[in-house]
Amino acid sequence: MTSEHRSASVTPAHIAMFSIAAHGHVNPSLEVIRELVARGHRVTYAIPPVFADKVAATGARPVLYHSTLPKPSNPEESWPEDQESAMGLFLNDAIQALPQLADAYADDIPDLVLHDITSYPARVLARRWGVPAVSLSPNLVAWKGYEEEVAEPMWREPRQTERGRAYYARFEAWLKENGITEHPDTFASHPPRSLVLIPKALQPHADRVDEDVYTFVGACQGDRAEEGGWQRPAGAEKVVLVSLGSAFTKQPAFYRECVRAFGNLPGWHLVLQIGRKVTPAELGELPPNVEVHQWVPQLDILTKASAFITHAGMGSTMEALSNAVPMIAVPQAVDQFGNADMLQGLGVARKLATEEATADLLRETALALVDDPEVARRLRRIQAEMAQEGGTRRAADLIEAELPARHG
Ligand code: UDP
Repeated sequence: MTSEHRSASVTPAHIAMFSIAAHGHVNPSLEVIRELVARGHRVTYAIPPVFADKVAATGARPVLYHSTLPKPSNPEESWPEDQESAMGLFLNDAIQALPQLADAYADDIPDLVLHDITSYPARVLARRWGVPAVSLSPNLVAWKGYEEEVAEPMWREPRQTERGRAYYARFEAWLKENGITEHPDTFASHPPRSLVLIPKALQPHADRVDEDVYTFVGACQGDRAEEGGWQRPAGAEKVVLVSLGSAFTKQPAFYRECVRAFGNLPGWHLVLQIGRKVTPAELGELPPNVEVHQWVPQLDILTKASAFITHAGMGSTMEALSNAVPMIAVPQAVDQFGNADMLQGLGVARKLATEEATADLLRETALALVDDPEVARRLRRIQAEMAQEGGTRRAADLIEAELPARHG
């Protein structure tokens, strides 16, 4: 056990983390878990087997449970498009996972429960065990007024359908069985304590977020040296990275526009990540200042890049902001559209639809962003604010602060 980072006053505790098998929900927590382990805590991590190795690499002990949610590794299983069906899947999974998790922890009740926002069983168990629960949010959180402004209008109709009524009845009954009388919506979206793993700059209506509950700790990035580094080629004054992340990469026509935009542009070098669903042959002949990869050490390249053409996934967005790199946001799915709007609103990015991202517009936009001193100034301000948010260490300090008295 190492006590290197642990503050002298905190007694090592058993901290149990609960999450689901989804990259976007597990990855943001990993550095926080690694830090808690380094501080000498015994950390267990309830997770389906497909993520066991990833979790074990942090030093936490995976506690495996069977999940009925779609598995990221199985292309046959995919998430439903509509949010209602997804909500139903979460609830069914929670109901079937609860007894498994209760059994797994029966002889090893933790001192504190940490959980992803999607883990309803974690909240139920924390109440049953009488221990504090801290939610880790990898996304934006509900501000005061969110229910009336967003949730209520969005759910009004679905709630009235037979399926909607059955969902709420089932959720309420399950909560009641477990001694919880809160409304399902309150239970699901109002945790008693939450650490928000995104920068406050990306939160809509941040001034209306209840700071007694939510603390923005910002990006919890770790050392990714094991991914290897990237060398700037001689003569490459400005580097532009194109990456649509890990999933939404099947865009050969868009990549061809990127090659046409920056190929042979004097002083510029293009690093183009095309994923595994497109081959370099589909891009045609490549000028000497263009390199194409299936996967790149993105964080290292961003430390050297002048511009980033991104799908605006939350991970990529935070990586670019922490390195003060202006973006062209070309959102592909889910939260990326909202992230792109936030970035454009902050004046550090331009949002383009995939179809409108022609070579000419991409080049023109990148040149304008890179040359704009106001964009650079805003990026430096956000970068400085993010550095203040504290990231991993602050998250670990705040979790330790929630430990019951004998551990405080
Ligand atoms: N990433 C990387 N190399 C690549 C593509 C992506 O290292 O070639 C990393 C990137 O740094 C980020 C994550 O994969 O940490 C992508 O997360 P994000 O939330 O941006 O998008 P998603 O893949 O979930 O759509």
